[in-house]
Amino acid sequence: LLKLTGITKHFKNLTAVNGINLEVQPGEKLVIIGPSGSGKSTLLRSINLLEEIDDGTITFEGHQVGYVTRLGKRHLDKPHQICALRAEIGMVFQHFHLFPHMTVLGNVMEGPLTVQKKTREEARQTAVDMLAKVGLSDKRDVFPATLSGGQKQRVAIARALAMRPKLMLFDEPTSALDPELVGEVFDTIHSLADEGMTMLIVTHHMGFARELADRVIFMESGRFLAEGTPQEFFCKSQDNERIRGFLNRLL
Ligand code: ATP
Ligand code: MG
Repeated sequence: LLKLTGITKHFKNLTAVNGINLEVQPGEKLVIIGPSGSGKSTLLRSINLLEEIDDGTITFEGHQVGYVTRLGKRHLDKPHQICALRAEIGMVFQHFHLFPHMTVLGNVMEGPLTVQKKTREEARQTAVDMLAKVGLSDKRDVFPATLSGGQKQRVAIARALAMRPKLMLFDEPTSALDPELVGEVFDTIHSLADEGMTMLIVTHHMGFARELADRVIFMESGRFLAEGTPQEFFCKSQDNERIRGFLNRLL
């Protein structure tokens, strides 16, 4: 579904992402962990072109996206091609980013209405369905400010799902939540996983990673240091001092 080769992103003289190669198969669930500043968010943002990468290629469903080389220089694709890609890749952030002036239903309808040019009726039906999926049908008409953090994040997930994405990117979806609200968001992600959604999740919750992931990747200084199935990963990590140290600090 997704193939990254040599993805590299610099910020001035800092290399945030350094030559990442990754292939994600349809239905696969990948968890990325790693210390603060290791480039996890930058990598996720690069995948749906929120960051302009300096090198490498992104192939989604067999088509290379994002960049064309003209006269030896790399250019970002035309805006409509970028929109087309973003519509297929849903992203959920640490800090929800809901539209405060719109109701919950309005938030979830916004993508289908403005990006997909659906009719109000179609967009409404999709939004109603997605809110039911995340268990928030009763919150349709309220504004985000009145919701708990867990509920806000579930609205953000419903909003991403309303675009019918083929891939979902989650960047620390629970790290801004009170501990007692983490479970409901994980349950929502879990049920999506059970439906076969392909997903890439950055999280520090090892229990969740172990339960959900087909593959766990450890990222440090812009590179992948280790990867494997959760079992392989947690075994191997015992031999790698850096990963062991990182995991021990989390527990
Ligand atoms: P965290 O776990 O804290 O979220 P992360 O692994 O997501 O960390 P990134 O946010 O991807 O890390 O950042 C990687 C590096 O790039 C960091 O050193 C960060 O300071 C730097 N960086 C990220 N965004 C920018 C930016 N817009 N301008 C300059 N430097 C940036
Ligand atoms: Mg981050």
